[in-house]
Amino acid sequence: MAVKGTGPYDDDNVFARILRGEIPCRKIFEDEWALAFHDIGPKAPVHVLVIPKNPYVSFIDFSARATPEEITGFTRAVGKVAEDLGLNEPGFRLISNAGPDSGQEVPHFHVHILAGKPLSVALA
Ligand code: AMP
Repeated sequence: MAVKGTGPYDDDNVFARILRGEIPCRKIFEDEWALAFHDIGPKAPVHVLVIPKNPYVSFIDFSARATPEEITGFTRAVGKVAEDLGLNEPGFRLISNAGPDSGQEVPHFHVHILAGKPLSVALA
């Protein structure tokens, strides 16, 4: 079910539970700012999620409240994951859903990295 892209933050959402180690994930990268893991229901041959360590509901929340260091750290983590996955040359798509019209299901800000085949050009 789609969720609101605004607060309050739900501490029991699935990504908060992954960050606390309460449920497993197929981790591919972690640093001070971000955790990256394989999506449980991949929509492309490569489907990775990158999430910030701190609690933000959506991109607007993250962009407004995260510190400059956190925004830089998270952005660099997304780039590093894409590079480390070998996606620079073949290419990839970044998506971040926010709110009901986007179909956001998990109310913890995250970026999808989609790749591994020519992706549909349809945006809606
Ligand atoms: P969104 O619709 O942008 O909120 O995307 C949420 C994504 O999280 C979906 O692509 C789900 O397949 C994925 N997802 C949900 N639960 C898990 C989980 N436990 N581990 C990995 N990915 C998950």
